[in-house]
Amino acid sequence: MPLPRFTGNFTQQEPIPDEAIAAATRVLKTGRLHRYNLAAGEMGEVAELEAEYAAWQGAPYCLALTSGGQAIQIALRAAGVQPGDPVLTNAFTLAPVPGAIHAVGGKPVLVEIDQELCLDLDDLECKAAKAGAKVMLVSHMRGHLCDMQRLVDICAAYGLELIEDCAHTMGARWDGGLSGNFGLAGCFSTQTYKHMNSGEGGFLTSSDPDFMARATIMSGSYMLFERHGAGPSLEHFADPRYEQPNCSARLDALRAAILRPQLSLLEGNIARWNERYKAVADEVAKAPNLRLPLRPNQEFFVGSSIQFSLRAGDAQRCQRLVALCADRGVELKWFGHAEPHGFTSNHRSWRYMQAQELPNSDAILALLFDMRLPLTFSLEDCRLIGKLIAEAADAL
Ligand SMILES: *Cc1c(COP(=O)(O)O)cnc(C)c1O
Repeated sequence: MPLPRFTGNFTQQEPIPDEAIAAATRVLKTGRLHRYNLAAGEMGEVAELEAEYAAWQGAPYCLALTSGGQAIQIALRAAGVQPGDPVLTNAFTLAPVPGAIHAVGGKPVLVEIDQELCLDLDDLECKAAKAGAKVMLVSHMRGHLCDMQRLVDICAAYGLELIEDCAHTMGARWDGGLSGNFGLAGCFSTQTYKHMNSGEGGFLTSSDPDFMARATIMSGSYMLFERHGAGPSLEHFADPRYEQPNCSARLDALRAAILRPQLSLLEGNIARWNERYKAVADEVAKAPNLRLPLRPNQEFFVGSSIQFSLRAGDAQRCQRLVALCADRGVELKWFGHAEPHGFTSNHRSWRYMQAQELPNSDAILALLFDMRLPLTFSLEDCRLIGKLIAEAADAL
């Protein structure tokens, strides 16, 4: 029997839970949407959220911010990146990552990725030795974690502060440790397509009180830093309060209110994403000309999206696969496209920075496809999608 066409929507997330809508309504009725606009004795939604996220993440400090990109930018500044400083990062990442480096005046030094879509740690060692960077900003792009122990060791050997971009790894683990807790700071996004949905938003987590005090002043705390939910003690602000600029990136009470109930759903949602990932992956794995990245035993990932590549081919063959899938109602992204579509993740489209030669990453991205797995898809949907992709690949 021929497979039916898939009719679901790849950008449709689940509705905001009723409890979160009720919380949002409560906040709206108070009129107090600014995080520091509090009634007597009130902690406020943003501070409550910071305390709850810090506890969930197992990090002493958490700062709620307007976006994941702002979390990265503030982390870089608070880590001491100065104009002109090189900053190491992955060649395969999303535009806000090089954008944040550029915004603080840093110079991105792109490190190759490997077949499994992780940072190439051998290339990192070469570039760390030459670049003179003080910061390694690892972007766990599409949720792929490299060997975190080796990364931590390399950073220690070359005197690099490690900052993690965890936009796709909220809740993911390496060898039992939560992503975000391996270096100086973890940066998270609560933008609609990530693991919690407030439209826009982000977190910065750390266990370094002086770093966090600098970041807090930069977030725009108007000297009201004692109203934070998981901030460092007041003595850490003695110098930062005069030395750090206000970059106005505070989260507001409305978005915090809709995030708090979602935090208690996160663990369950991770399990739901992973069932969906497995349902698609099991079918894609049957297609002889497709390859799924290998996922090591130490990695516990969150399958909120799936990547796979053609084992061999050229741009034409890749475009044909995209078209054959589109005919079947399956929306694939192809990372090899010369022109950015809808989002940019190709280093060649970031022309504000110095062009860099990344032959291995280019070769990998040339054959790489990507697909979102929103929780509005059922397991049956996911099995069908996997079968349709395999069928399209066989028809190439
Ligand atoms: C989404 C994303 C970010 C930043 O998120 P925003 O909240 O949109 O600024 C950073 N890195 C990666 C890899 C992302 O996918």
